[in-house]
Amino acid sequence: MQSDQTMNPFQMALANFEIAADTLGLDNNIRERIRLPERELIVNFPVKLRDGRIKVFTGYRVQHNTARGPAKGGLRYHPNVNLDEVRALASWMTWKNAVVGIPFGGGKGGVTCNPKEMTTEELQNLTRRFAQEISIMIGPERDIPAPDVYTNAQTMAWIMDTYSMARGYCVPGVVTGKPLSIGGSAGRNEATARGCVYTIAEAAKVKKMPLKNARIVVQGFGNAGSIAAKLLFDDHQSRIIAISDSRGAIFNSKGMNPHSVLLYKSQHGSVKGYPEAEEISPEELLTLECEVLIPAALENVITTENAGRLNAKIIAEAANGPTVPEADAILDERGIMVLPDILANAGGVTVSYFEWVQDNYSFFWKEHDINERLREVMVSAFKAVLETAKKYDVHMRRAAYVLAVDRVAEAIRVRGIYP
Ligand code: GLU
Repeated sequence: MQSDQTMNPFQMALANFEIAADTLGLDNNIRERIRLPERELIVNFPVKLRDGRIKVFTGYRVQHNTARGPAKGGLRYHPNVNLDEVRALASWMTWKNAVVGIPFGGGKGGVTCNPKEMTTEELQNLTRRFAQEISIMIGPERDIPAPDVYTNAQTMAWIMDTYSMARGYCVPGVVTGKPLSIGGSAGRNEATARGCVYTIAEAAKVKKMPLKNARIVVQGFGNAGSIAAKLLFDDHQSRIIAISDSRGAIFNSKGMNPHSVLLYKSQHGSVKGYPEAEEISPEELLTLECEVLIPAALENVITTENAGRLNAKIIAEAANGPTVPEADAILDERGIMVLPDILANAGGVTVSYFEWVQDNYSFFWKEHDINERLREVMVSAFKAVLETAKKYDVHMRRAAYVLAVDRVAEAIRVRGIYP
């Protein structure tokens, strides 16, 4: 076994799957059919850079499982993107969609690149060529990408346009997380964070812990982390005591206004240096005493090395895969309630589903209705996971996997084998 920090994310994903399969007593032939992704595409493609050079980038699209519906999941632009990471992320989408009961399978994609060093034009060139490369696999009935780390509504607009141009007509349902002007959904941008906060509110009720004045620590200040902080601050009067991003971490025991931290970050490129806080190390941030810790960045943040020193009552995983499987037992033993990624961050893909439904019907809903439907989905998923945890006497992650694997296995069973 590799050490926590270098653990292969797909091995991590498989470890959680195998435990759930054991708990369910899943028979071997179904297990075999879920273990490996159904389809994997690797593309190497050229992009013209601003200085006239041509650079070849590598991108991926993986469809992990489509038993319950078309593949669905984001596209990530990051220097560390590789096939095993995309496989892991695709499988997490399979489980996530099953946990919240939306009719999608799991997929994911990405390009190995550093978007922070690229101009908007370079990113557009990269995105359009990548969209064309993966167009043999994506489509509204087949596989629907969405934003993920360092991609956004603009990225989706370029993909939608590229795909539509090749077909000669407008195909809004090929991606979700689009701008509103081209068939995006109200509430989609905030959905991951909003869904996460709904699950935190449910967990706080179970723990009989008020969210008012609750100390919140946010690791990662992108779409999910920053909006979760704002919602907790605005709607629950929680205290945001620490925030980090890829460049540093800040702390103020009295709490910070996340709106002004975000403004500072937009002007200075990082939360680091925010005047109304002291600087701490990213590792120190994770171990702060708090009511809720929200990992909202990348994988492998909570490990066997630091799990014993975390001081949160609830951990809400807005990121995908922030906790290595071996750390779960330590957190459980210490009475920390973990809201696993496949539950806590499922709000994003849930509103993606609403967006896809709206695109297919060309009939759009009001933001209030979307948030209300999202709340219903998240609360009932939370309750189903909690029930499963009680039934099998397991922690929340194992329960979420048991629920998800059972639903996917049932779909595979009832569909049978082709031919
Ligand atoms: N990238 C998000 C996730 O990891 C959203 C995926 C989607 O909306 O399809 O859940």
